[in-house]
Amino acid sequence: MKTSFSLNLLLRDNIKTLVPYSSARDEYKGEASILLDANENAFGSPYSKNYNRYPDPLQHRVKEKLHHIKGVPIENIFLGNGSDEAIDILFRAFCEPGRDNVILVPPTYGMYEVSANINNVAYKKVVLTADYQLDLDRIAEAIDPYTKMIFICSPNNPTGNSIHRQDIETILVNFDGIVVVDEAYINFSRQPSFTQDLAEFPNLVILQTLSKAWGLAALRLGMAFAGKEIIEVFNKIKPPYNINQATQDIVLEALEGVDIVNEWIKEVVEEREKLAVALQTLPQVAHVTPSDANFILVKLEEPRALYNFLVSNGIIVRDRSKVALCEGCLRFTIGTPEENITLLENIRKFYDQSL
Ligand SMILES: *Cc1c(COP(=O)(O)O)cnc(C)c1O
Repeated sequence: MKTSFSLNLLLRDNIKTLVPYSSARDEYKGEASILLDANENAFGSPYSKNYNRYPDPLQHRVKEKLHHIKGVPIENIFLGNGSDEAIDILFRAFCEPGRDNVILVPPTYGMYEVSANINNVAYKKVVLTADYQLDLDRIAEAIDPYTKMIFICSPNNPTGNSIHRQDIETILVNFDGIVVVDEAYINFSRQPSFTQDLAEFPNLVILQTLSKAWGLAALRLGMAFAGKEIIEVFNKIKPPYNINQATQDIVLEALEGVDIVNEWIKEVVEEREKLAVALQTLPQVAHVTPSDANFILVKLEEPRALYNFLVSNGIIVRDRSKVALCEGCLRFTIGTPEENITLLENIRKFYDQSL
């Protein structure tokens, strides 16, 4: 348990004093039967369902359900239009453009850097070690009085491995700024989530998403879990109606599907191990990084030519071969069993041809 964390010292001044937008629906209490406050169309929508009323700004019903699934209190949950919105709000809350900085630990998810650039916030890159773990000494050296956040993705994209929990805890305890732990792939991991540790780490912000294991990427629903005061800051900054009604309705129904999602996760993990084993038998495959995610990073011969061959056969994978520490690597998302077989057949065909 650390003692030196102070939200007030971290927040930008304009956010500290910000008076948030007050929506029509925020300004009354009690049962409403006639709503003439928000300039909506009182007749309905030209659609089979009515969407004429503004949605719940704080998505109470969705959060209630997530509380039951995740075991996180409602006051510790923020919902965003994808995780991307949560990442952007973090920069706008904590980083004064042109003054503050954040630490990124590449190779990792590209959005942290893009969001920093959009917000004109500097970043220091402390590359992972050769086995894709945190370089704690160099991170400690990189921290200065203007370092507001450190982004850690675990399981990491694009490498697939989990970051050692002990190392993340070391940073949580010793760094006074915000530690963002992006758990987009946590459902596929052997490691536990940090969601049960929020009380212990006041500077922890966990990101999760419905875009991966939950199969709802098109609905755009990202989650942030953090202490109550941080969540209140998020809610102050976000656009008032950031999660639309259609998304709230569909997500509420889809969250009933825990069982099917858990079955898919099991199947993806099985397929992941099968594909990894099959690839390792190929002499052209140098290394498959052990993965806790729904993809594998594979170091192999002629990555770019293989990538082009796969594309010409209608199979799209991710070329990471020019990324530092991922040299020579392609990233394969785990598909259905049939898709994985087709991928493997095409990889074999490519190398047989180039013999
Ligand atoms: C896919 C992914 C996300 C998800 O982003 P959404 O905006 O919620 O779809 C977040 N973080 C990482 C590391 C990812 O790979």
